[in-house]
Amino acid sequence: MTDLALAEPPVIERNAAGASPFLLTCDHYGRAIPDALGDLGLPESELTRHIAWDIGIAGVAERMSKALGAHLIAQRYSRLVIDCNRPPDVASSIPALSEATTIPGNAGITPQQADARRRAIFEPYHRRIDDVIGARIRDGRMTMLMSLHSFTPVYAGVARPWHIGTLYHRDKTVAPLLLKLLRAEGDLVAGDNQPYAVSDTTDYTIPVHGEARGLMNTGIEIRQDLIADEAGQMQWAERLTRLFREIEETLVTPPSSHA
Ligand SMILES: [Zn+2]
Repeated sequence: MTDLALAEPPVIERNAAGASPFLLTCDHYGRAIPDALGDLGLPESELTRHIAWDIGIAGVAERMSKALGAHLIAQRYSRLVIDCNRPPDVASSIPALSEATTIPGNAGITPQQADARRRAIFEPYHRRIDDVIGARIRDGRMTMLMSLHSFTPVYAGVARPWHIGTLYHRDKTVAPLLLKLLRAEGDLVAGDNQPYAVSDTTDYTIPVHGEARGLMNTGIEIRQDLIADEAGQMQWAERLTRLFREIEETLVTPPSSHA
């Protein structure tokens, strides 16, 4: 059994003691690559675009965690190394091809090499989320899992009109409410399960940590060109923080005791 050595741990956490009912996750926060894997055979121009990570989402997630006092659990390594939002047994877990880019460093890797990536990155990240949710449930804490992502404005030549999308499957509480609030903003094109929907084969975080644990949940996808710089990240973090507070008021505040 070979281990994959990491210079830095895969899990990044903020506000672990935060009192907010929102638990924020960020599967594609970073684009680090373990030293042993070099550059995966790709030029810098590929390693900085959307196939490697969710551009801009780290800056939004950090600000929202701080503003809401919400626990953020994020993952440092590139999804080209291993995609932390895919079941590890599907081909796109360690993609040989992403959009139109072939990834030489992922071609023909052995099951042992794939397993080493899974043990070094995927497992500690998901174990931490699982432990945190377990502790919150034991403590009787209300928890809404909010899985934060960003999407490329153009995929395989097709332009996407949405500014933001809510992504959900079995839980039908948080996403429709957030969608209603986003549409009430008046200046947004908000996607209902667009640019894609959650499924058990194309996703991991929501099915495993949200649905299987019985938590209210939604995925949120923000278009990358809107959060590419700090001004955009700040704007979107402020807007979503305001809407999250409305969600919290609607779903968490106990009903009035007046009979
Ligand atoms: Zn993502």
